[in-house]
Amino acid sequence: MMILLVDMDAFFASVEQAHHPHLRGKPVIVCGDPGRRGVVTAASYEARPFGVHAGMRLQEARRLCPQAEYVEGDPAKYVGLSLQLLDLYTRYTPDVEPFSVDEAFVGLGPEVRTLEQAAVIGREIQREIDRRFGLGASIGIGPNKLVAKMASGVEKPRGLTALDPEGFREVFWPRDIQTMWGVGPKLAERMRSLGIKTVGELARAPDHLLKAAFGIIGPQLRECAWGEDDTPLVPYHRGLDAKSMGHEVTLTEDCDDRASLEGTLLRLADQVARRMRGEGYVGRTVTLKLRDHRFVTVLRQRVLPDFTAEAERIYPVALALLHANWNGAAVRLLGVSVSQLARAADAPQRELFAGEDRSQRLREALDRVRDRLGEASVVPLGTLVHRRRLAHVPFGTLSSRALAPAKRDAGRNARPSPRARVRANRARDPGEVPP
Ligand SMILES: [Mg+2]
Repeated sequence: MMILLVDMDAFFASVEQAHHPHLRGKPVIVCGDPGRRGVVTAASYEARPFGVHAGMRLQEARRLCPQAEYVEGDPAKYVGLSLQLLDLYTRYTPDVEPFSVDEAFVGLGPEVRTLEQAAVIGREIQREIDRRFGLGASIGIGPNKLVAKMASGVEKPRGLTALDPEGFREVFWPRDIQTMWGVGPKLAERMRSLGIKTVGELARAPDHLLKAAFGIIGPQLRECAWGEDDTPLVPYHRGLDAKSMGHEVTLTEDCDDRASLEGTLLRLADQVARRMRGEGYVGRTVTLKLRDHRFVTVLRQRVLPDFTAEAERIYPVALALLHANWNGAAVRLLGVSVSQLARAADAPQRELFAGEDRSQRLREALDRVRDRLGEASVVPLGTLVHRRRLAHVPFGTLSSRALAPAKRDAGRNARPSPRARVRANRARDPGEVPP
């Protein structure tokens, strides 16, 4: 299967430029609240030569590029666009997997056999995105997700890079080991200490060295360096779990990135809340389920002051439980459930959201869109909705780091062998959080 990774160029900043003509051609910096301290959420391509990038402190950005237009981000708008983009891709193929708010994998059917044929479709998608939304996208194409994802970063903005495994090796073998998808700073550091500094050096590293250093994951890492990857594409309209008032997800890769976990948690809270509303329930007890890469599982609960079916109230509690119980180890599974349920009509009511018509309307609109698109279309909301400017949402517990685009570098870190799992489980009380 040929896979495309479509990655929007400077997404938030480009959306603002598309919607506000006076911003076009100028350095634009999207942030939480321009009047306050915070971080850069997105920087337009015009701002980047000044050294401004997402995640940078706003203060620093102002020093580097005082003449930029500082724009307060509008997450609801970006979410809406993100969903429209997914809609656009599904007109080409049903196999669309959202990867972040501005990236999606698009799997082409068996009739598309060559990189050239895939590139034709890629160009068409780029033209369509430009025509309909006035936005640029960069596309990577490859025989698997790994190659597609890494290829998408080769040429930006409005680039298109199609690589077969041979082309992949040509492009990436000379590059730094950290350009490998899934190799974050920690893993890269470990590899450098073994003398593996480039992707090519990883590809040619001896078996015994990789096994000794990384266990069973070692040989897999080397496969990645050869451009091989058999991770399946999971279209977002599948995999629904409609059988409980909780949702949990086994992450496609063990993940120790805080922002990604928070995003996933938000998606889960939102799914649970939406299901509760759909079935006419409210609830009071929020449970977080957390399983780490060693299969150590933690369940923690907290009781809410009132009954609710609102993600805006469930999520902060789940988040607080995550912060209190996560020790930084790579996470394998996350779950959120709500218990102590009552029929919404019978539950003690309180005017919690008086004056929140706008947020109510937005939530209902998003519910409708997602009812149509499927649960996983909420994925791109993950890292985003917690930036909503809802005054009543106690999101102050989020670190500024969570405002930066989620980095997915937790990646392919050690998934233990079955034997190692058994050992780990035996060694620990399953309810205990490792130190
Ligand atoms: Mg992007």
